[in-house]
Amino acid sequence: MRTPVIDVAIVGAGPYGLSVAAHALDAGLDTRVFGRPMWAWEHHMPRGMLLKSEPDASHLGDPDRRYGLDAYRRYAYGEPVPVAEFVDYGRWFGTRAVGQALDESEVVSVGTEGEMFALSLASGESVLARSAVLALGFLPFAHRPGALAALPPDAATHSSDHHELGGFAGRDVTVVGAGQSALETATLLAEAGAKVRVVARTRMLDWNAVPAERRSALDRVLAPRSGLGSGWPSVVWSRLPGAVRYLPRPARAHIVRTALGPAGSWWLRERFDDAVTVTLGTRLTASERRDGVRLHLTDVTGAITTLDTEHVIAATGYRVDVARIGLLADRLRRAVASSGPTPRLSRTFETSVGGLHLVGLAAAATFGPAMRFVYGCDFAARRVTRGLTNRLRRPRTS
Ligand SMILES: Cc1cc2nc3c(=O)[nH]c(=O)nc-3n(C[C@H](O)[C@H](O)[C@H](O)COP(=O)(O)OP(=O)(O)OC[C@H]3O[C@@H](n4cnc5c(N)ncnc54)[C@H](O)[C@@H]3O)c2cc1C
Repeated sequence: MRTPVIDVAIVGAGPYGLSVAAHALDAGLDTRVFGRPMWAWEHHMPRGMLLKSEPDASHLGDPDRRYGLDAYRRYAYGEPVPVAEFVDYGRWFGTRAVGQALDESEVVSVGTEGEMFALSLASGESVLARSAVLALGFLPFAHRPGALAALPPDAATHSSDHHELGGFAGRDVTVVGAGQSALETATLLAEAGAKVRVVARTRMLDWNAVPAERRSALDRVLAPRSGLGSGWPSVVWSRLPGAVRYLPRPARAHIVRTALGPAGSWWLRERFDDAVTVTLGTRLTASERRDGVRLHLTDVTGAITTLDTEHVIAATGYRVDVARIGLLADRLRRAVASSGPTPRLSRTFETSVGGLHLVGLAAAATFGPAMRFVYGCDFAARRVTRGLTNRLRRPRTS
C-alpha cells in the first residue's frame, strides 16, 4: 500500500492542534490532526477541576469564530467552566471545525524521508507530510524536582499523572507547590477523603481577587481586563504576543518566568482554607523511602526538619526543553535550534528545521505567556496557517 502524502500533519488534538487544523483546512491545505481529542484535559487533569481561565478567554480558534465556547454553551462572567464540559466542548469543536481530518491515532515518531516528514503511527501505518506542527501541550514537559528523584512512582508522582483522586481517600498526602494546580489538587484530594498538606517555598499563598462585574472608570483605566487577567502587563501579553517575540531574549525569559505567577482562583479559597494544612517558606531538599516517604525540608531560617507522609505529589509545573520532545527522531531533534532549552521560532512558529512547527507551551519563550493558555490558540493557529500557506504554495525549486 502506498504511504499517503499530505500537506500538514498536526500532532496532538488539544486546543492548539484542533485550532491549527481548523485554520489550515479552511485555507485549503490537505491536513490531518493526530491524537485523541482533549486527551490531556480528560486524563491528566483532576476530575472535578474547574477552569481557572474566564469563559471568554477559553475559546478554541476557527477562522470565522463560529465555534467559540459561547456557541457551545453560554457561561456568565466569572462562572467557572467545569473541566468535563471543556473536554466536551473541545470534541464538539473538533467535530464541527475539523471533521474527517481528525485521526485518533497516536504518533510514535516523526522523522524525515527526503524533503518530507515521516510519521509512524501506533497502528503501524505511516504518513508523509510536507510540513508538521507539533501541538504536544504540557505533558512532555512535566517538571519533577530532583529532590524527589529517589522515590518510586507509587510514592511520588507529578500532578499531571492524576485524574481520579478518589484512590487517595484515607491516605496522608503532601502536595508540593503553590500554584492553582497545587491548591486545587490539594482541595480535591481533601474533598475525596485524604489528609492533605501543601508544602511550598513561598511565604504567602497568592489568591486572585473576586472579579467584580461593575468597576469604576478609574479601576478600568488602572487595571484593564484582558484574556490573561487584569492589569496593563496582562493586556500586552494577551493582545500583542507577536510583539513579545521582538523583545531581547533576557526580557522574554524574565516575562515567562514572572508573568502570571502562581496564584489560586478566588472560587477555590474557601474550600481550600477549610480542608488543607499549609507549610510555607519551606524548601524540599531531599526525600527517602521509609515505611512511606520521608521528606527533608529547609525553612527560611535554614532550619532543617523532616516530614513523614504516605505519598507526595509534585505540582511543580512544566519546563520546556527541546531535548524532551522524544517523539522527534534524534537527528531531527538535534537540528532544532534552541536558546538554552527552548526552541527558536520564526514569526510563523517554524523551527530552524524548515516546515517543522511548534505551538502551545513550547512557544511561550518566543511569544510570551499567552501560549501557556487556551487564549493563545487562535493567534497561533492564524500565524502558523499563514506560514504554511506561504510555504506550501511556494513554487518548488526542483
Ligand atoms: C491542571 C491544569 C489546569 C489548566 N487550566 C487551564 C485553564 O483553566 N485555562 C487555560 O487556558 N489553560 C489551562 N491550562 C493550560 C493548558 O494546558 C493549556 O492552555 C492547553 O492545554 C494548551 O493546549 P495544547 O493543545 O497546547 O495542549 P494539550 O491540551 O496538552 O494537548 C496536547 C495533546 O497532544 C496529545 N499528544 C501528545 N503527544 C502525542 C502523540 N505522540 N500522538 C498523538 N497525540 C499526542 C496529548 O495527548 C494532548 O491531548 C491548565 C493546565 C493544567 C496542567
